Amino acid sequence: MQKINPQKVLTKCELEPKEEGGYLKFKCFFCNGVAATPRYGKKKNLWYCASCCKSGHIIALVMKIKGLEYEDAKKLLLSKSGAVKKITKELGVEYELQ
Ligand SMILES: [Zn+2]
Repeated sequence: MQKINPQKVLTKCELEPKEEGGYLKFKCFFCNGVAATPRYGKKKNLWYCASCCKSGHIIALVMKIKGLEYEDAKKLLLSKSGAVKKITKELGVEYELQ
């Protein structure tokens, strides 16, 4: 989980992340409000939108945006952006898409 680089992931999804304080802020895919993901700490791969109150894991967000299954989202991130070096399989079942 710690190996995911949220900035690269968000850039890959054309969400134009901007660093602000300890957060990466980006346009919410669901409501166009401002969503944020912490840069550091245990929750750094989780995102939250203050406008629509949606939240989740960043990989689940990629799956939703790109319309991909977990394995395909993982492949995309592994092969093209270099954002993810290793994703543990447990991630796929821990987070539900909304
Ligand atoms: Zn939102």
